Amino acid sequence: MIIDIPENSDFSIHNIPFGIFSTQNRSKRAGVAIGDHILDLVAVAKLGVFDFDSKVLEREDLNDFILLGKATTSKVRKDIQQWLQEDTSVLAGKPELFVLQSEAQMHMPVCVGDYTDFYSSIEHATNVGKMFRDPENALLPNWKHIPVGYHGRASSIVISGTPIHRPQGQTLPKDATTPVFGPSQRLDFELEMGFVVGKNTEMGESVSTDQAEEYIFGLVLFNDWSARDIQKWEYVPLGPFLAKNFASSISPWIVTLDALEPFRVQGPAQNPKVLPYLEYEGKKNYDIQLEVRIRPEGGEETLVCHSNFKYMYWNMAQQLAHHTINGCNVHVGDMMASGTISGQDEQSYGSMLELAWMGTKPITLNNGAERKFIHDGDTVTMRGYAQKDDIRVGFGEVATKVLPPK
Ligand code: CA
Repeated sequence: MIIDIPENSDFSIHNIPFGIFSTQNRSKRAGVAIGDHILDLVAVAKLGVFDFDSKVLEREDLNDFILLGKATTSKVRKDIQQWLQEDTSVLAGKPELFVLQSEAQMHMPVCVGDYTDFYSSIEHATNVGKMFRDPENALLPNWKHIPVGYHGRASSIVISGTPIHRPQGQTLPKDATTPVFGPSQRLDFELEMGFVVGKNTEMGESVSTDQAEEYIFGLVLFNDWSARDIQKWEYVPLGPFLAKNFASSISPWIVTLDALEPFRVQGPAQNPKVLPYLEYEGKKNYDIQLEVRIRPEGGEETLVCHSNFKYMYWNMAQQLAHHTINGCNVHVGDMMASGTISGQDEQSYGSMLELAWMGTKPITLNNGAERKFIHDGDTVTMRGYAQKDDIRVGFGEVATKVLPPK
C-alpha cells in the first residue's frame, strides 16, 4: 500500500469516495479520501494517467467529472484502488500527491441544481402521522402506493461544518386560534441519506427501476433540518415550506454506488403490490449503519440514535422511477434525499420529534441536561458506515452547529 490506512477507517481501499477540497496552497479541486489523507486528483492528472480531459478535476464542483459517465468515473476509482495497492505504481514515491484531511477544507462536492426530499421510511411516516394527525390511521391512503416526496430547496444545502441559524417564523401556540411570530422552539434534525444524480434525462423521458442505478452516482449523509412548530402550522394543504427550506447539511465525500455494492440487502416486503412501474428486481436496499450524536456547547457528544439505511420501505430505484414517470427531467448534481430513516425500536428514530415523542419523553444528555429539540450552541453530528466481513466503507460525518437567529 502506497499510504498508511488506519484500521477501521471509513476511507478504506474499498471506498475511494470523491469530494472537493482546498488547502492553503491548493485551490478548490477534486480529490479522493483514503485513510486520513486526500489524494489530489489534479496532481495525479499531471502524471498523464487519465484518458479524459482532466480540466474537469479543477472545477469547483464534481458535476463535469460526473457528467463524463460511469464508464469513466468507475474506471478512475478502480485505477486509483489498484495504484494505491501497488508499491511500484505511478503514485509511488510521490508524497506531494497527498494532503492530510486535517489540513484541508472541504467544499460542496456538487452544484445542486434541484433537491427532492422523499418520505420513504414507513416507521417515520407512521410516527409522524400518529403525532400530527390520527394515531389510528397514521399512514395516509396513498403512502404504500407512492414514494411520497416534495421539491425542496437546493440553495440552502450546505457542507458539514457550516453553522446554521435557528429559523424564525409563524407558529400556532397550543390552544390558540391565531399565530405568533418568533424563533422556532422545535428545531429538529432528520437523519437521512441523499443520492446524487449521475446522468441527465430529457423532459418527457422516464427512468425505469431497472435503469435507475445508472443514474445514481453515489450517496452522502444528509441532515434535513426541520422546524416542527412552523411545519405543524404551515404544512396543510401543500406540504412543507419554510419549516424545511432554511438548511440541509451534507457530508463532504460522495460514496459511489460501486463502493456500496457489497452491502446490498433485500428491502422490506411491499404490501399491497405496487403498480408495475414501481416493481423492481434484486436487492435494492443497502445495509448502512447510521448514528446521530448531540454535543452541547462546551460539552461532549451523546449518542441519541442509531438506525440503518436498510429500513427504507421505498428504495432509491423506485424513488427515481417515480420522480421521472411523468417526464420530469433530472440533472447531474441533483440531490434526492431518502426522508428520515427511522427503525422500529425507539432508539432508532431518526429525529428528535420521534425520539422525544413530541417533547413528552425528553432525551437526557451525558451531562445531565435534557433535550426535547435542538438548542442553540448544540452540534448535531451524523455518521454512517457499512461493514461486511473485513470490508468497511464509511461516509465520515456531517456535523453542524446551531446558532441563534441572525
Ligand atoms: Ca426530510
